Amino acid sequence: MFTKLLSLIQLLPDSYRHRGQRRALVTLLRERRNIRDEHVLAAINAVPRHLFFEPTFEAHAYHDKAFPIGEGQTISQPSTVAYQTELLGIRPGQRLLEVGTGSGYQFAVLCQLSDSVQSIEFNPVLFERGRQRLAALGLPTAGLHLGDGSLGLPGHAPFDGILVTAGAPGLPPALLRQLRIGGRLVVPVGAADPGQQQLLRITREGPESYLREEFGDCRFVPLRGAAGWAT
Ligand code: SAM
Repeated sequence: MFTKLLSLIQLLPDSYRHRGQRRALVTLLRERRNIRDEHVLAAINAVPRHLFFEPTFEAHAYHDKAFPIGEGQTISQPSTVAYQTELLGIRPGQRLLEVGTGSGYQFAVLCQLSDSVQSIEFNPVLFERGRQRLAALGLPTAGLHLGDGSLGLPGHAPFDGILVTAGAPGLPPALLRQLRIGGRLVVPVGAADPGQQQLLRITREGPESYLREEFGDCRFVPLRGAAGWAT
C-alpha cells in the first residue's frame, strides 16, 4: 500500500516531494549562495525544474549543478540562473531577451518576473524540444525564436534586460545596440574554455555610453554565431 502511494506521488508532475526539494534549493540559494532578491527566489520556487529533465535524470534536478541536456549543451546550475537573473534587476513589465533557450528553464524563470520575455536558441533540436516542453507547461511559446542570438532580436528591441547563457568572445555589438537606455546586459565573456570567462553586467547609460561591471569567474558553454565562437 505504502509503495503504491509512493509511486503515485512520483507520477504527479509537481508533487509534494518536488516542492519540498525546491524549497530546500531556495534556502541554499538564499543562505549559502548569497542570492538576495526575494522576487528571484520566488520565481525559482515557482518553476518545477525537474520537468526540464528527462524522467530518468530528474533526481539531479534540485542539486545546485549544471546538467547535460543533449547536443553538447547544459541546463545552467540553479545558482547561476538565480545570480544572472538577480543581476538584471528586473521590474515588472520590462522587456527581456534571453540568448540560449536550451532546456527552457531560465526562460520559465524569467516569465515569472515579466510578461514580456523573448528567448532565442541556435540549435534546432534543442529549440523544438524546449518549445514542446514549455508549451506543455502552459508558458508563452510565442516568445521563442530559432536563430543566432548573438545578433539579438532587432524586431523586438529595445530591451530592458538581455541575459546571455553562453560564453562570448567579446561583447556582441548587436546586443549593446538593442539595449534601452538604462537597460542591462548580463553576459559571460572570455575564452571558449569553460571556467575562463568573466560574468559581466553592461548598463547602457546613454546612446554611446556603457557602464561595465565584473562579477567574477564563471563557466559557460561557448556562444556560437556571428558574434560568437566558430563551430
Ligand atoms: N538557458 C538554458 C537553460 O535554461 O537550459 C541553458 C543554456 S546552455 C548553458 C547555452 C545555450 O546557448 C545552448 O542551448 C546553446 O545551443 C545556446 N547557444 C549558443 N550559441 C547561441 C547563439 N548564437 N544564439 C542562440 N543560442 C545559442
